[in-house]
Amino acid sequence: MQTTLKLQDKEFVPYISEKEITEKIKLLAEQLKKDYEGKRPLFIAILNGSFMFAAALFKELEIEAEISFIKLASYKGTRSTGHVITAIGLDADVTNRHVIILEDIIDTGKTLYTFLPQLYNQHPASLKVAVLLDKPEPRKFDVPVDYVCFTIPNKFVLGFGLDFDGFGRNTKEIFQLKEE
Ligand code: 5GP
Ligand code: MG
Repeated sequence: MQTTLKLQDKEFVPYISEKEITEKIKLLAEQLKKDYEGKRPLFIAILNGSFMFAAALFKELEIEAEISFIKLASYKGTRSTGHVITAIGLDADVTNRHVIILEDIIDTGKTLYTFLPQLYNQHPASLKVAVLLDKPEPRKFDVPVDYVCFTIPNKFVLGFGLDFDGFGRNTKEIFQLKEE
């Protein structure tokens, strides 16, 4: 277990332990098994931040399922730019599929608000959103969040795939920006 983590001039303190993360992801995998058994769902993970969440969840998932990836980005440093770009598009056909979006964290909601209509246009059989972390306070765009591992206050977090300017993703636990 790391204690504090320093990146540039910022200090981050441990917030959610590896054990808590593992347990919550197992529970989510069990819930998804109940909800999607026999439906052969297609998971779409949003890169980069969700790669560890997606991997951890997919390993625990005991049903027949597919996974694909899309790369969207809206963050620079510790703030959302409010501008979402698609860096790598979707290669899977979602028509008539049961689709579950995997996202690391929902903040303003802009990323999903931009992306979800693109999927609805392709007429999936169903479309749900599963997130590791939900930060409801800064929400500006109304998006459905169907499965949540942790609901957290409006503080910048990193680790377990989440970054600060590209760094800090490689930890087993989640850290929180230290109060000044
Ligand atoms: P939204 O579009 O909902 O405002 O933001 C979604 C994206 O912003 C997330 O996928 C994530 O990449 C990034 N983000 C939002 N809050 C945080 C945070 O507290 N820490 C980190 N590392 N990224 C965040
Ligand atoms: Mg992200």
